[in-house]
Amino acid sequence: MRTARTVAEVREALSGPRSDGARIGLVATMGALHEGHLSLVREARRACDVVVVSLFVNPAQFGPGEDLDSYPRDEAHDAELLESEGVDLLFAPGADEVYPAGFATSVEVGELTAVMEGDPQRRGPGHFSGVTTVVTKLLNIVGPRVAYFGQKDAQQAVVIRRMARDLDFPVEIEVLPTVREPDGLAMSSRNRYLSDEERARATGLSRALESAREAAASGASVDDALAAARERLASDGIEPEYVEARDAESLTPAQSFNGRPILIALAAQVGPARLIDNVVIEGSEN
Ligand code: AMP
Repeated sequence: MRTARTVAEVREALSGPRSDGARIGLVATMGALHEGHLSLVREARRACDVVVVSLFVNPAQFGPGEDLDSYPRDEAHDAELLESEGVDLLFAPGADEVYPAGFATSVEVGELTAVMEGDPQRRGPGHFSGVTTVVTKLLNIVGPRVAYFGQKDAQQAVVIRRMARDLDFPVEIEVLPTVREPDGLAMSSRNRYLSDEERARATGLSRALESAREAAASGASVDDALAAARERLASDGIEPEYVEARDAESLTPAQSFNGRPILIALAAQVGPARLIDNVVIEGSEN
């Protein structure tokens, strides 16, 4: 596996394979890799000739007071994991390479980014513009045929798909299922912040989503399914920031289980970690 620090090094490393018509796959990460990330890498390895993984803790997507400084960083260990997955190229740039002096451009994706994780009262409008700007840059730097994202960050996946479509990026956006711990907790780099007690409590997020899914499957309304999730969270001592049901594609509020896929998403602070999770209730489940 080669490691590139600069845009020029990435372009140079990929120019040969690209001109040979290689199918290039990109997995964009902030590092502190876990099985969720590795599931994306393995699918890229299976489906592509050349696998590129980026590792960049993107300051632009962190709000003031968020965990940019304490975000776990262990490039050496991440590189070992990626090497053993057969990754071809690791792109691990410094912040100055991504945002050189005078950097002034941002990519904004309208209404999809004004709710949930982009709500100005929560992570703020800067979060998604940080994500979409850096993903635009990574897509332009690497020029992949396919880019892989996780359903764990459901809203991010919807936003990136829309951006790629609206701006005609010549890339397929593939979204892969959330990888969970055996007890249901969605894998996240931020799970490392949890004490044993908090780690046990954090399973309440996926349990709440399961309660909502069961309620939906037994014919409950959207409001009742959300109430079931909230009750479950309360019984686990978790106060959510939000629990919402939205159309899984348009992200407009879901009034009913109407046969379209409905995203039920939540965020909650558990000790020092702000965690998110979601399920999609497919039309056939209700
Ligand atoms: P991050 O390093 O948190 O920016 O995540 C990089 C990519 O991995 C994103 O596309 C995430 O959605 C994806 N990802 C993170 N956690 C998981 C998980 N538990 N299961 C599947 N994909 C994940």
